[in-house]
Amino acid sequence: MTEIQDAFYNLAEHLVNPDPTSEGTIQYSGRRFVYLHSKMFSKLFERMEEVAGEDVRDRIEMIGIRAGYNIAENMDRHFREKGVMDKLKLIKESGFNMKDILKIKGSSPRDQIEKIFGYGMHVGWLGEVDLEEYEEGKYAKYKYENGFDAFSHGETGEKNCSFITGVIQGMTIFFWDTGNIDAEHVSCVCAGDDACVTEVNFDG
Ligand SMILES: [Zn+2]
Repeated sequence: MTEIQDAFYNLAEHLVNPDPTSEGTIQYSGRRFVYLHSKMFSKLFERMEEVAGEDVRDRIEMIGIRAGYNIAENMDRHFREKGVMDKLKLIKESGFNMKDILKIKGSSPRDQIEKIFGYGMHVGWLGEVDLEEYEEGKYAKYKYENGFDAFSHGETGEKNCSFITGVIQGMTIFFWDTGNIDAEHVSCVCAGDDACVTEVNFDG
């Protein structure tokens, strides 16, 4: 048994509701879930690179851009459409700590971006994200120390967070309403830096 499989089966003993339903699926908070060890992401990306060559890193970033755009679109609508009480009920039922989400009440693009990252922390994506600098429509600097893909790849001596760089770019494209955005992963835990930092620039 590999280390990853071993970790998965150890984890499975402690899941909230590990018993499969009568249909043989796992449900959490009324939704179907598939549990994956976060190391599986790097394995998947590495296999893609083996099959399709190094160029696939750019493609992975492009997939991230689409994913980030879709996440932003759906969550922006979700935050706008649901009443405050509905949101609180949903978050509470899901077992999340509400503190980080409640502290941001507005609905400007920056507020929505920060709410999405607040939510993202509770589903295991990036840990706490600092929006270190933000000038709407021009420049933003996102810093995070616990990105799941950096953890997944481990310290490799190079910057490996293609997928998340794309996701951050896609989210920013949605909220700034322009496709003319460049994203650069300027420092990376995989390369031995203290934190992952992604900068986005309007490239008009
Ligand atoms: Zn990184």
